[in-house]
Amino acid sequence: MKKEINSLEKMASFCKRRGFIFLSSEIYGGLSAVYDYGHYGTLLKNNIRDAWWKHMVQYRDDIYGLDSAIFMHPTTWVASGHVEGFDDPQVDCKDCKQRMRADHLLESFGIDADKASLDFINKELDKLKKEKKIKCISCGSVNVTPAKQFSLMVKSNLGSPTDVLSEENVIYLRPETCGGIYLEYKNMVDSVHPKLPFGIAQVGKAFRNEIVARQFVFRTREFEQMEMQYFLHPKEMKEKYEMWKDIRWKWYLEYGIPEKKLNWYKHEVLSHYASEAYDIEFDFQCLGGFKEVEGIHTRGDWDLSQHSKHSGEDLTYTDEETKEKFTPHIMETSAGLNRIFLMFIDNSYTEEEVEGEKRVVLKMDKRLSPVKTAVFPLLKNKPELVKEAQKIHQMLKKKWMSEFDTSGSIGKRYRRQDEIGTPFCITVDFESLSDKSVTVRERDTMKQERIKIENLEKYLSKELA
Ligand code: ATP
Repeated sequence: MKKEINSLEKMASFCKRRGFIFLSSEIYGGLSAVYDYGHYGTLLKNNIRDAWWKHMVQYRDDIYGLDSAIFMHPTTWVASGHVEGFDDPQVDCKDCKQRMRADHLLESFGIDADKASLDFINKELDKLKKEKKIKCISCGSVNVTPAKQFSLMVKSNLGSPTDVLSEENVIYLRPETCGGIYLEYKNMVDSVHPKLPFGIAQVGKAFRNEIVARQFVFRTREFEQMEMQYFLHPKEMKEKYEMWKDIRWKWYLEYGIPEKKLNWYKHEVLSHYASEAYDIEFDFQCLGGFKEVEGIHTRGDWDLSQHSKHSGEDLTYTDEETKEKFTPHIMETSAGLNRIFLMFIDNSYTEEEVEGEKRVVLKMDKRLSPVKTAVFPLLKNKPELVKEAQKIHQMLKKKWMSEFDTSGSIGKRYRRQDEIGTPFCITVDFESLSDKSVTVRERDTMKQERIKIENLEKYLSKELA
């Protein structure tokens, strides 16, 4: 029986208590909208990243991996248009100084302000202000400023003293990882010699000076993206775009997200270079509804043309057979690793009653679970049991993350592993010493099975595959 209880506060406190996620710099009072990942958080995040990488790179023959630097030449972001216009509209409460996203305020009144002009936003805000409908989300005051553009770009002083920072010499922290992919397009073509269509994939950090970021790891100022840019001839765009929409949708189903919790959001207002833009949304219980986890967008030849124009480099592609020379068009799949992390926690966090007691369990795909097995000696003061259990733990550790636990009753040890989503607990008891078997208990069903120690690794490998 699953109860509707996953509030954002509850998820954040669960993630902290069980070593998944901590607020950054907590001993100094914390740094707003920046988070650290603890032991289990790091393991889970790595597993999600690997699951993405496997499907996007390893299982394919047309995608190549990249790990480009976070710091890039300042012209990159001039060419891409980010310096000029990577903004969000901001309004401030004059009383309590709370910052708010103007487009989000309008959306709460059913007004679509996605990519809308400041003019449009202020006109709509004025109408609502006259009716005293626009209120500060924190103190309720109606005393709020008009909207102004707020740049999301995060500046650094790399290579120049802070006091001479200017727009000309500032080096930004990348606001998205795909910038590195466009800049390495030529090197990738010259070194790997791929034929169109092909993709370049990378996972890495991105930074955005988000105006409002109070949604735990859903929206943070430092986050990780898993992006793939697919280069193709424009005549293939429609077919490949549909292909990638289908591939990405199925990835979520593959890892246990129910289809009813997924939604396509179609962007009605498109960037000037785009012909299609859809987002995959997940129905977050902790955020009260469908929110974007991944964008699948066409980008035309905008990126390569712009970087070619600003760098003077020829970024065209020549088809060996037809000899046609053209600038490849791009479509991208852009997923947020941290948002998808929150999605898997939100989807799998379950509270249920077992024999009159509350059981918290992360019912997630076993391949994503941070720890795969936990080995327990029935009693910690019986050296022969401890020794046998250690032997099994050491064997399993070579294959995957395994834990060894001797403290508390077996029931308590099960509960600790349930909370972090460990699929299998293995108990060594007195019988094990004579029948060379152990009890294997499965997380979701709590069913127990006796398995011969010599068959254990094979059995678990099959179950975890
Ligand atoms: P939003 O509309 O929610 O601000 P976006 O449309 O600006 O997101 P994109 O630029 O398309 O997002 O980025 C691709 C993906 O990167 C998003 O689908 C999301 O998963 C992730 N992402 C973007 N901004 C953040 C952030 N501030 N914190 C965490 N993840 C983010």
